[in-house]
Amino acid sequence: MDIKTYAKEHHVPIMLDEGLAFLLEYVKTNNVKNILELGTAIGYSAMNMAKIAEDIHIDTIEINEVMYNEAIKNIKEADLDKQIDVYLMDALAFETDKQYDLIFVDAAKGKYRRYLEHFKKNSKVFIFDNLEFHGIVDDPSMTHNRNTKALVKKIRIFRDEILNDPEYTCEYHKNIGDGVLLLKVN
Ligand code: SAH
Ligand code: MG
Repeated sequence: MDIKTYAKEHHVPIMLDEGLAFLLEYVKTNNVKNILELGTAIGYSAMNMAKIAEDIHIDTIEINEVMYNEAIKNIKEADLDKQIDVYLMDALAFETDKQYDLIFVDAAKGKYRRYLEHFKKNSKVFIFDNLEFHGIVDDPSMTHNRNTKALVKKIRIFRDEILNDPEYTCEYHKNIGDGVLLLKVN
């Protein structure tokens, strides 16, 4: 089955087309070679980044075992397993001194602040996905969910703080995909 069709049928929140296009364009034009991804899901975004060039390497972290297994399978089938290493664990438990050209953050949306603090030493550039959180906010069945409301509030606070923090230079693309933020550590 096509990976996008699988994502739709199993409600896997893979990146929206324009968001992915933005990410891939950044990787291409900035000659990005080493990437850390938080939130693998079924490997869709990682595989798309890896396909740009054979010398691109991605470490990607996924906490959910079902997703992890699906990602491993998809990556192997696409013959991209030499370029992509998938780690089954909580992103915040991943410790490394490695330097990445880019960290793509797409795991737990309420933990973006903690991810940034945890991985700040590992990269000067971060891209965050889902800062608009349309995927769920626009889903009527979840609109009155208190947890979702709290989560959306958390995302908004993170966004406002980060955009006004002199430590970072940010470019926020509200209308690209589900809201994509490019952050550079000054
Ligand atoms: N980047 C993927 C989509 C990721 S969806 C793509 O565009 O193709 C978000 C994923 O993050 C989910 O699979 C979820 O299980 C995972 N996740 C949530 N919390 C996490 C955590 N603390 N550590 C690692 N992964 C996490
Ligand atoms: Mg996302």
